[in-house]
Amino acid sequence: MIIADIPKAILPSLYARWADDLLGPIPAETEATCQQCVLLLTSSDSNTTQSINPRTKCCTYYPDLMNFQVGNILNETNPYKAPARDVVMARVRAQFMSTPLKLQKPPVYNIIYDKNPFMGSALRLRCPYYVEEVLNGACGIWQHRNAACTTWFCKHVRGNVGHSFWRDALEPFFKFLEDALGFWCLTRLSLPEENLERLLKMSNYTSDSRFTPDILDETVDPKIHKAIWGPFIGHEIEFYQECGRLVSCLSTSEVLVIGGSKATLYLSLARKAYNSLISKSLPRAVRPGRFQLQPQGNGIAQVIGYSGCDPLILPSDLLPLLSYFEGCTVEKALNIIREETRFEIEPDLVRRLLDFEILIENSETN
Ligand code: SF4
Repeated sequence: MIIADIPKAILPSLYARWADDLLGPIPAETEATCQQCVLLLTSSDSNTTQSINPRTKCCTYYPDLMNFQVGNILNETNPYKAPARDVVMARVRAQFMSTPLKLQKPPVYNIIYDKNPFMGSALRLRCPYYVEEVLNGACGIWQHRNAACTTWFCKHVRGNVGHSFWRDALEPFFKFLEDALGFWCLTRLSLPEENLERLLKMSNYTSDSRFTPDILDETVDPKIHKAIWGPFIGHEIEFYQECGRLVSCLSTSEVLVIGGSKATLYLSLARKAYNSLISKSLPRAVRPGRFQLQPQGNGIAQVIGYSGCDPLILPSDLLPLLSYFEGCTVEKALNIIREETRFEIEPDLVRRLLDFEILIENSETN
């Protein structure tokens, strides 16, 4: 199937509503261009730090999907919105790692994943929901992807400020809500206690777990499947679809009530990170951070601060000037640089160097 375009919305529709209601408009991460993979474009340059497989892009990850996310994928009637819907359907029908709570990755995947430190390299690790035929390869469940996929970007407009917002604040908040809503669906659909008990006893497999032959062969013991699904056995697809409908109908305030006080705490951290994301204010004093330098010739250098995926290209002449920031305020350092050198550094550039951790805040300078 060739699809002309995929939705460009930054967040899955459910999360977009929650974020709009609870935070405000989130600036787009325009540097992480998934369709025209920016890491692929730059990996042909031998000086870059990352080599990406064009058949996987960064999707060498197998996400677990909560019951309502599975349901919302299965509820899609528009193939443009969930081109990997058939893959999800086939996984539910195969029953392996399909429970009333979630559709989990095969445990063996964890072993291979944990031993492979290179993102976006091995085809063996490619996400099953990645669709190679869409554009240049794209996520097939984009509208319903989980918290981990939603909050991962290879590059951030605001460097580490963006990374901290998405990964340290928004991901745990969304992940917590995902889990809470998954369990809420079980109560709403009245999964009997004996099935719930069996479900909660299921192992969480890691690469250290002992695997049974069933787990290794990706087959299902019908007795265990029945013990988990109870009255919903044979109706797993309808169960998931109903979870999707139930969660989609919730208002944001109802979602927060279901999440309880822990969700409120996560939200306060997300708001703090959001305020940093939309603020361009400068600290009183800064100093050089730890960064790696790779001269590129022609008077420019690649400077890696917070992430090897997201270097800055800077004029080589700028870098010796960073020592002027040691031991004095930003204002004073900018004045000295203006007076003693032929350079003028704008406050916006200081902010950018801070965002990418080429400079870091210095709270010790008076
Ligand atoms: S769900 Fe989508 S974004 Fe996440 S790893 Fe799979 S293809 Fe990539």
